[in-house]
Amino acid sequence: MSLEWMLQGICRQTDPELFFPEGSGTHHGLIARKLCRACPVQSSCLDFAMDNKEIGIWGGTNEGERAFLRKEINELSINEIRELV
Ligand code: SF4
Repeated sequence: MSLEWMLQGICRQTDPELFFPEGSGTHHGLIARKLCRACPVQSSCLDFAMDNKEIGIWGGTNEGERAFLRKEINELSINEIRELV
């Protein structure tokens, strides 16, 4: 999997600390989340973080939110997944 998308991330032009806030509530990392929403590679970034269990804000989500998404996806039936794609 190519990681060239990383070169286009808005976070490359900002303070990396913004993307690794202390705590895990939805208000933590608010500035980073806003930057992610405007980022042209948000989708690739979220996919990468979902697959690699990264910490911090990736693709506009924190690790707790990604863990929730992983659980939800794992609980979908094959037919439900087919309907989504
Ligand atoms: S979505 Fe957010 S964390 Fe991912 S590359 Fe873009 S700015 Fe960086």
